[in-house]
Amino acid sequence: MKKLIAGNWKMNMGGADAKDFAVSLKQAVIDPACEVLVCVPFTAIPDVASVLNGSKISVGAQNVSWADSGAFTGEISADMLHYAGATHAIVGHSERRAMFGETDETVKKRTLKALEKGITPIVCIGETLSQRKGGLTEKVLKSQLDGAFDGFALQQMQRLVIAYEPVWAIGTGETATAQQAGDTVAFIRDCLNKMFGYSPRILYGGSMNASNAAELLNAGIDGGLIGGASLKIADFKAIIGAAK
Ligand code: PGA
Repeated sequence: MKKLIAGNWKMNMGGADAKDFAVSLKQAVIDPACEVLVCVPFTAIPDVASVLNGSKISVGAQNVSWADSGAFTGEISADMLHYAGATHAIVGHSERRAMFGETDETVKKRTLKALEKGITPIVCIGETLSQRKGGLTEKVLKSQLDGAFDGFALQQMQRLVIAYEPVWAIGTGETATAQQAGDTVAFIRDCLNKMFGYSPRILYGGSMNASNAAELLNAGIDGGLIGGASLKIADFKAIIGAAK
């Protein structure tokens, strides 16, 4: 399976700047060896999707509701994302878990709705620094996997992506070593194989950049979820180049 390099713009570039960036990105990334995706702010989806139409770069959102419509102030539905031009959505990013009350249960509901509606969910899991230091990494990850995917059918697992993002490595400049990332992704894969007899693509995220991408991507990892470095064309292009 091809690797997937997904940019997570977070709450950056939601207007005309997004369109300009997409134009440059399209020129920079012509025929990548991997799949490429940018998860952009909701307001930027239509412009970015229209610029990237016909390119090898897909467009995603950073969240998706479990509801179809109605009294859900501030939520965005899978149909709305389709309409705007998104094909993927990040679900359960640690920033949403830590600051906006996202739980394993809401992650599960959002993931199920995305799958039902044909949006590919990128489900994020990861441990905090104190959990890693306390030797709890595997326990935490297993419980996040159980919480998100308990009761899922094989066909559902086959249509989603998982991102392992150690919370201590996100936006901190502190990357997991290739060994740490590779070992942890191997643990997640093993859990999923035991649960479903199958493991979907597992990305690594957390301060991945142009210099460390090749080593991380060679550690048995299926791609990257890239925050800061996805906001610079040269860096994002170099990471894409490292994903063979
Ligand atoms: P980072 O963010 O690459 O800036 O660490 C990754 C993410 O949060 O998805």
